[in-house]
Amino acid sequence: RFKDTNMASSNIKICVRIRPEQGTERSSKFREVVKAIGDKIVVFDPPDDNSNGLKQIFTSQRNKDLKFSFDYVFGPESSQLDVYRCTTATILDDVLNGFNCCVFAYGATGAGKTFTMLGNKENPGVIYKTVMMLYTKIDALSDSYKYDVEVSYVEIYNENMKDLLSPGRKLVMNEGSDGKITLCGVSMHQPKNADELLDMLLRGNTERTQSSTSANSESSRSHAIFQIYLRGRNKVSGTTATWKHSKFSLIDLAGSEKGNVTTNNKQQREGKNINRSLLALGNVINALAERNKNPKIFIPYRDSKLTRLLKDSLGGSCQTIMIANLSPSSKSYEDTYNTLKYANRAKNI
Ligand code: ADP
Ligand code: MG
Repeated sequence: RFKDTNMASSNIKICVRIRPEQGTERSSKFREVVKAIGDKIVVFDPPDDNSNGLKQIFTSQRNKDLKFSFDYVFGPESSQLDVYRCTTATILDDVLNGFNCCVFAYGATGAGKTFTMLGNKENPGVIYKTVMMLYTKIDALSDSYKYDVEVSYVEIYNENMKDLLSPGRKLVMNEGSDGKITLCGVSMHQPKNADELLDMLLRGNTERTQSSTSANSESSRSHAIFQIYLRGRNKVSGTTATWKHSKFSLIDLAGSEKGNVTTNNKQQREGKNINRSLLALGNVINALAERNKNPKIFIPYRDSKLTRLLKDSLGGSCQTIMIANLSPSSKSYEDTYNTLKYANRAKNI
């Protein structure tokens, strides 16, 4: 199996997930501003079918009524299984074949990133389903292949790294001469079964740094990075040359909302650094796109902790999936619009 290293374009999938309306979003003050049409198209700010037309004519604010197309659009009724099936399930074989892969949940705070990646006891998310299926696949291959699986779960907060499964450890990122990234000091785990894995994930998530700002008390400014390390060996041929190493990174990004106006300097610093990692990620993705036309283009991996950590997992033969999470409500109008624009730009790769 061969993949041209310049063909980053075919290796990125952009998906959108719209979560159901919640709480006060259901009040008449708000309306739905994102609608899925089939499983590839989303309309932002469609004309209001409930209005009597007069409102449209007499308000200066016109509906944007913009259509975007993506690799997949998951509507509010979509299940965790639907999302898993159309995203990570499609690249598991690549990971087993020795390719590094990445999946990101992007979007504003409250848009559904953590629900998508982590979920809860009743509705476990993409990470859980991915690891379970990986175990199943490894079992099925066990006659001819032996795989070792280890996982880690870390946070990048304000450009500092934290081990979510063993808080207090000192983490240092090293880059080998071969470009391979190693996170020294990180705790590695081998969850034996489904329950153990899910408990580990949920416990790790409670260790994430939460900062309350006056503008948004639930603002999540941390990136949570779950990584699966695989080492596979062909039992039949049995030579060292047949070892395969790969890494699968599943990432719950910090909220993409524009830096809130706060009076607190610490908050401003945090906002800037979060933007730095998200901005760097966007720049890396755009540069990878440019590489189709210009193979010599510089890819700015070094601009943030996040992009350094993922240096060996973005571009080249690596598969990347972005899940852009959206709230359907006019309550989050600007955030939703910004997320759609970001996702649409990433798509042009
Ligand atoms: P984020 O991590 O982007 O800040 P969350 O994942 O915490 O957002 O989602 C915000 C709220 O919406 C949570 O209460 C979550 O359980 C709920 N939620 C998000 N997505 C869905 C969904 N697809 N179905 C049902 N509830 C959802
Ligand atoms: Mg979250």
